[in-house]
Amino acid sequence: MAKPILVLAEQHRGEIADITFEMLGAARAVAGATGAPVFALLLGSDAVPLTARLGAADKVFLVDTPTLDAPVPSAAATALKTVQEQAQADLVFIGCTNISLGIGPILATRTGLPLVNFCRALRVEGNALVCTSQLFGGKIAADVKLPDMRGIVCLYPGAFPAEAGRGDKPPAVEKVPLLVDPPKVIFKQYLQPETGDVDITKQSVLVGVGRGIQTQDNVQLAEELAQALGGAVCASRPVIDQGWLPLSRQVGKSGLSVKPRVYLAFGISGAPEHWEGIQNSQCIIAINTDSKAPIFDGAHYGAVADALEVLPVLIEKVKARKG
Ligand SMILES: Cc1cc2nc3c(=O)[nH]c(=O)nc-3n(C[C@H](O)[C@H](O)[C@H](O)COP(=O)(O)OP(=O)(O)OC[C@H]3O[C@@H](n4cnc5c(N)ncnc54)[C@H](O)[C@@H]3O)c2cc1C
Repeated sequence: MAKPILVLAEQHRGEIADITFEMLGAARAVAGATGAPVFALLLGSDAVPLTARLGAADKVFLVDTPTLDAPVPSAAATALKTVQEQAQADLVFIGCTNISLGIGPILATRTGLPLVNFCRALRVEGNALVCTSQLFGGKIAADVKLPDMRGIVCLYPGAFPAEAGRGDKPPAVEKVPLLVDPPKVIFKQYLQPETGDVDITKQSVLVGVGRGIQTQDNVQLAEELAQALGGAVCASRPVIDQGWLPLSRQVGKSGLSVKPRVYLAFGISGAPEHWEGIQNSQCIIAINTDSKAPIFDGAHYGAVADALEVLPVLIEKVKARKG
């Protein structure tokens, strides 16, 4: 029987993060081709109730200790290595998120297993797992082959469907009694993000504005269209840097990754750092005066046009349709 796949479940302040379901779904897809069991590892104190949400795993290992409550990679890697050895799992999935990004390299050093970071796609080829890794902000997609399915793979958030990793059936749970020494890195404080703004990662329609919107007043036009469509406004970095919209609306490498049904891009060139945040949108519609703008290479629909002329017309048409 194939060796188990071990998924490091990510929880944040008592909530299972979406990346966990995305990894479980990806693991299930690999397991479908190899027959491997899928195990999950959950860390942190009082996490027992959360195990019920990990029904896509055949078994959940739980290391229930307060030392693992704070997101400190070296401590998490200690627990992960113990369980990885105990479960004899040669293939480990970790989230490529702010919380988990540092764990993979530490585990790779301690176990000698190869590490593939920024993985966006997986396929099984014979006895090997081929991981497509996104490099240089999306400019290069490199296929990395892990012979005999051995390795640590850090999966990119939003790249795998979360639905495939949700399961209602309560999994078997095994508590692992483990004392983790207090890490040298001390977690000092959690800063709660500003509240009150919309969560652009949850919107099904987004109206994105870039430098081509030209002035803060013109952002209001995009706001009006977003409202008419029942969505929200977001922006590329230059718009945020200008202070025309809050940081919570920034899309891209140093902002948020979004996956709306429709992403309208007004005056956005489509730089790799922005593209990284919008590439999982179901439908991208770009409006740009420059026919050679890179955004047209990836957009599903495009118009070479002036955003400031298109916006008022669209607002009128959408309102008329609704009215
Ligand atoms: C480490 C790092 C992280 C970064 N993180 C991010 C990030 O998270 N998000 C992000 O967006 N960027 C990020 N950037 C910046 C990124 O490289 C680009 O500079 C940025 O995305 C460009 O924004 P833009 O498309 O709005 O502006 P520009 O590239 O200046 O494009 C403006 C576009 O508007 C078009 N235009 C002009 N006038 C009009 C008009 N009237 N109507 C229609 N079109 C018009 C132009 O043809 C042009 O294509 C990052 C960069 C680095 C180095």
